[in-house]
Amino acid sequence: MIRCLENDSQECYKFISKNSLIKDKISSQFLDKIYSKLKKIKIDQVCSKSNPEKVDIKDLKYSPFIAKEHLKKIEEDNWSLIKRKCTLNDFTWTVHQYNSESNEQFNELSVSRIAYILALHNYNDNVKLNIYLYPTKFKKEITRDKKWKPININGGMTSSTSSTRDVYVWRYEEMPKVVLHEMVHAMQIDDALFENNLSKRFINEFGLMSSNYINVFESYTEIVAGIMNIMLFCLENKKDNLYDLLNIERNWSLFQAAGVLKVSGYENIEDFLSNKDKLIQETNVFSYYILRSAHMYSIEKYLEWMEENANEGFKLKNEASDDYYELSMEAINNEEYKRIINEYIKIYEKLKDNEFVKKTMRMTAIEGKSKLDDSMKLIRHFFLKKIK
Ligand SMILES: [Zn+2]
Repeated sequence: MIRCLENDSQECYKFISKNSLIKDKISSQFLDKIYSKLKKIKIDQVCSKSNPEKVDIKDLKYSPFIAKEHLKKIEEDNWSLIKRKCTLNDFTWTVHQYNSESNEQFNELSVSRIAYILALHNYNDNVKLNIYLYPTKFKKEITRDKKWKPININGGMTSSTSSTRDVYVWRYEEMPKVVLHEMVHAMQIDDALFENNLSKRFINEFGLMSSNYINVFESYTEIVAGIMNIMLFCLENKKDNLYDLLNIERNWSLFQAAGVLKVSGYENIEDFLSNKDKLIQETNVFSYYILRSAHMYSIEKYLEWMEENANEGFKLKNEASDDYYELSMEAINNEEYKRIINEYIKIYEKLKDNEFVKKTMRMTAIEGKSKLDDSMKLIRHFFLKKIK
């Protein structure tokens, strides 16, 4: 198992294997159905590649979610681009793959996974889809000043108009998963939860946590991305232990939520539930970590809800937002969930400050080893020739 994992992912995997507090292994017909559909999808050679070209990275400047510090560093770098024109059935899209001398690693899976999620949902909307991938080395790390900001957490964004979808992903870390997350937005799989009344009900209960919004839908987006991440990991590495991996991710998400609570200044989750004001979020920490971990604990109920509310693949029906609040409150108030979060807070406290699992904010534990692309060779070859 370990052999198939990226280095950081190995750390998370080892840690959770030693410290897993959720032991009940679940199974789900809903997931089985989606998984077997995924297995039947044939993705070979959907892309044609262009020759690499020199570029500046102006596209990324328009993202409101990328940290200034990151943007500045990225701008100083020397980037080149390979464009991939992709087709599957009648749908076409373009992947813009960036590389630079200081960011030359690239996880090829990020490209094929786009085709998988499109195929799983029989996606064929009349839109222009462009995906921009910048494999920078910035890692997701805990905040040092108790405020949760894009620099700690964000790695992607999607901007949509009626006829275009532009997806940006700018960290190498978790890229094959973040691509799935952004595709869930771009394909509007989570659109039903992008709903004002639902948001209002959460704000009533939790306040705004120093933010302008609570993007509740992000909890669903990330759970779908996480599930597809382990399904595709199994396919890519010829493994068949989907439900073991799901359990790793369930434990990891509770451990990460525990870390967020502790770093924000809480000793236990009851503390948080009675006073939410200490959690200061300038990005969606509540949805990504806390709310998601509650649903990951009660995953069987959540999957039942998904089965009732999804039509194609994971795409939600319009009325899906009706009972999402109730589902969420039940999950957050589950006594066993609260007990385990508190246990993980204690484990978190005991870790040394320089331990990777204590510092990292990565949302998933499982990430497949990068399949190194031959594009770097191509780039070197191309530019060396030009210089000569
Ligand atoms: Zn998102």
